[in-house]
Amino acid sequence: AVRIRGLRRTFGTHVVLDDLDLDIAPGELVALLGRSGSGKSTLLRILAGLDEPQSGTAEIDGAASVAFQEPRLLPWRRVADNVGLGLRGRGRAERRRRAAEVLAEVGLTDKTDAWPVTLSGGQAQRASLARALANDPELLLLDEPFSALDALTRIEMHELVLRVWREHRPSVLLVTHDVDEALRLADRVIVLAEGRIVHESPVPAPRPRALHDADIARRRVEL
Ligand code: ATP
Ligand code: MG
Repeated sequence: AVRIRGLRRTFGTHVVLDDLDLDIAPGELVALLGRSGSGKSTLLRILAGLDEPQSGTAEIDGAASVAFQEPRLLPWRRVADNVGLGLRGRGRAERRRRAAEVLAEVGLTDKTDAWPVTLSGGQAQRASLARALANDPELLLLDEPFSALDALTRIEMHELVLRVWREHRPSVLLVTHDVDEALRLADRVIVLAEGRIVHESPVPAPRPRALHDADIARRRVEL
């Protein structure tokens, strides 16, 4: 679960997050929309502990993991070692074992010992997701992780995220510019503007395995 109260982040005179409140329930999948520059990544960075607000609080039950728009794999480490990076404090054998497990979950077993530079964009993105999943986070932060992928790979990634989400039930905060993606995946869609959540809407229908265009159109109207 996440509980954010009065979060404020400014850069000089530029107020990016302005007294922002947000709750995310355990196991809830929330899609975060908002114009470019509205502060979505800033919010995620604060939740991930990569940035500090000027004031306000962000409480998270448990660990948070983040996957970014670009996979950010270390080029000098093999895929499995990249995936094991977040597992500090565990021995090398244990890191390898856990890396193999999550790489299997994202369908990358055959790339375990590959160098990141030899992966396709979608494979690198899956490796990045595997790294985020490796320490079984209670909160998964996804910052436009699929926007650079082709339409079919993106749909595969949607299925993958839903599968992982159903199995592990983390809370998920997914930043996306793609309304159809938000409606397809999320329990709730929220919109960030002028430093606050200005709109919020539950996604009413149960999440089907694959949506038909008519469903997406109907949900778009409901939103
Ligand atoms: P996008 O959809 O383009 O990814 P975003 O909603 O993620 O946009 P942020 O990256 O959070 O937007 O940036 C919000 C605002 O904060 C922008 O105006 C940006 O220029 C500013 N900003 C972010 N980081 C810094 C920084 N380190 N120094 C100064 N300004 C920053
Ligand atoms: Mg961003």
